[in-house]
Amino acid sequence: MDALAELIEALPESAVITDPDIVEGYRRDWSQDPDVGKPLAVVRPEDAGQVQVAVRWAAEHGVPVVPRGAGSGLSGGSTAVDDGIVLSLERMRAIEIDTDCQVAVVEPGAFNQEVKAAAAEHDLWYPPDPSSYEICSIGGNVATNAGGLCCVKYGVTTDYVLGLDVVLADGTLVTLGGKRIKDVAGLSLLKLFVGSEGTLGIVTRAILRLVPAQAPRSTMVATFPDTEAAARAVVKVRGALRPSMLELMDNASVNAVEDLRSMGLDRSAGALLVAQSDAPAGASADEVAVMQEACTAAGASEVFVTDDADEGEMFVEARRQAIPAVRAKGTLMLEDVGVAIPQLPDLMAGITAVGVEYDTDIAVIAHAGDGNTHPLIVFDEQDPDAARRAGEAFDEIMRVAISLGGTITGEHGVGRTKKRALPDQLGPDVMALTQRVKDALDPQGILNPGAIL
Ligand SMILES: Cc1cc2nc3c(=O)[nH]c(=O)nc-3n(C[C@H](O)[C@H](O)[C@H](O)COP(=O)(O)OP(=O)(O)OC[C@H]3O[C@@H](n4cnc5c(N)ncnc54)[C@H](O)[C@@H]3O)c2cc1C
Repeated sequence: MDALAELIEALPESAVITDPDIVEGYRRDWSQDPDVGKPLAVVRPEDAGQVQVAVRWAAEHGVPVVPRGAGSGLSGGSTAVDDGIVLSLERMRAIEIDTDCQVAVVEPGAFNQEVKAAAAEHDLWYPPDPSSYEICSIGGNVATNAGGLCCVKYGVTTDYVLGLDVVLADGTLVTLGGKRIKDVAGLSLLKLFVGSEGTLGIVTRAILRLVPAQAPRSTMVATFPDTEAAARAVVKVRGALRPSMLELMDNASVNAVEDLRSMGLDRSAGALLVAQSDAPAGASADEVAVMQEACTAAGASEVFVTDDADEGEMFVEARRQAIPAVRAKGTLMLEDVGVAIPQLPDLMAGITAVGVEYDTDIAVIAHAGDGNTHPLIVFDEQDPDAARRAGEAFDEIMRVAISLGGTITGEHGVGRTKKRALPDQLGPDVMALTQRVKDALDPQGILNPGAIL
């Protein structure tokens, strides 16, 4: 019996897919990393026990395992590798809300939006909100330590992870943390797995902290002549308070969204800030007033304020549509660079300069209140010179971020598309430490090989 036949026999009939047409749909994530392999099969377990069976089998035969949530990743983290298996957690989707402990106990394949909806039935809220919240899984969110739009005030995924069940590279299932709010027993192993991009273990269950439902929001939209002026406004706003949202779109992304679906955005705006306050009654008006003043002082040409929830949501939706809208313009290479807030105007200037130097279109959107930007490099892949310039611009933007003391990735992860720049940010000692951790947990190197390291 060949190795794969053993796995097929050990799991329920529908768990192992080898049909090439179906497997094709599991080879890439949203980044469309061109350096993609041909896997042996897609394995879709229904519970943690089946994950253990698959991983033990992989360990025995030295087969690479690429964990996969919903494939919305933007760094090639779940790009398939040759002769490996894609371990898709899509069938493990149970969600249980414990109102006494105010936690959600969630299987990894459940979508972020499904967790939010389940919590909302009990007047509770799971804050982390990637723009992709309708199409990404909790397992992927934990594995990338996903951020989002409200993280400027409410933090990122790791701030909500109280417990994890993880299947290790030898198939052992460990339970880390739990429903306890405070727990410092032992090394902080729980957090080691958050953001580990499937390279240290497979998350089979997460216990997520919930908070009371969010209060109604006031929305402010300000237009600026350019992204640097908008970034200066962000520095002023963040120096004064922490809004519940502070997002940026540049002229190219505003126009891409308008081309996709007319939403009444100002096509002439050099840059747009969308900010919200969810401070309790009365206080939100004060916060918006402070933000308005900061924007005007930084050179805003227009500032618009609304307490109407639907109107506010329309602007937020426009921001969420920006990545698909820009992607409709050509082949996309998507960056995720971030800096400390005071350096944001310099990063914006640096991104503009890279676009000029490499004669490449770069749209910019940003979780600006976190200093986390997404330069979106668009090019025509039929034009080899344009593709070369885009690739060089991609690397140069990461160098600019590092030169400003920043990071090559704020929330999407290193995956495969950014790993060549990781040593430049971390340096040899931290890279060596990272490798030692990887070797200790996955000595055969079967878990998501090629990602991060
Ligand atoms: C339009 C758009 C907007 C986006 N906006 C945001 C945003 O605002 N903020 C943000 O942070 N991200 C954003 N993303 C990126 C993406 O949605 C997130 O990275 C998300 O967390 C990926 O989840 P996924 O389920 O799709 O994971 P996948 O893409 O399937 O996998 C991502 C990584 O997680 C690993 N993984 C998945 N499941 C598990 C598991 N159970 N155990 C171990 N490892 C696992 C994979 O191996 C891979 O390394 C956006 C993506 C799109 C397409």
